[in-house]
Amino acid sequence: MEPLDRETAKKLYDRYRKKRDGIRNNVEMASICLICGSIHIIPKEGDARKLVCRNCGFAFFRYECLSCGKVVDGRDPRNPDCRECGLRVCTCGACGCPDKQHGN
Ligand SMILES: [Zn+2]
Ligand SMILES: [Zn+2]
Ligand SMILES: [Zn+2]
Repeated sequence: MEPLDRETAKKLYDRYRKKRDGIRNNVEMASICLICGSIHIIPKEGDARKLVCRNCGFAFFRYECLSCGKVVDGRDPRNPDCRECGLRVCTCGACGCPDKQHGN
């Protein structure tokens, strides 16, 4: 992927700060920190499902759902956390719990 230019990053940051729904579907949001706006996002060491901002240290879930392959992003309101497994719930209803389907 092309590195994001500051202007694009700023626009996306502003847009998703206001309305977080849809973050999961935006590829570029994988490399923008929603806390500080930095584009220095790296995979979190020791946790394949998380990314971390090198600037402010904020870590968030972003990974592909094992059930359906869609992106799950912890910052998206459509991906709430599951209290049982600690992962995020995909829009398909799957999380880290075995054979669990959350109702919507
Ligand atoms: Zn940050
Ligand atoms: Zn899914
Ligand atoms: Zn779960």
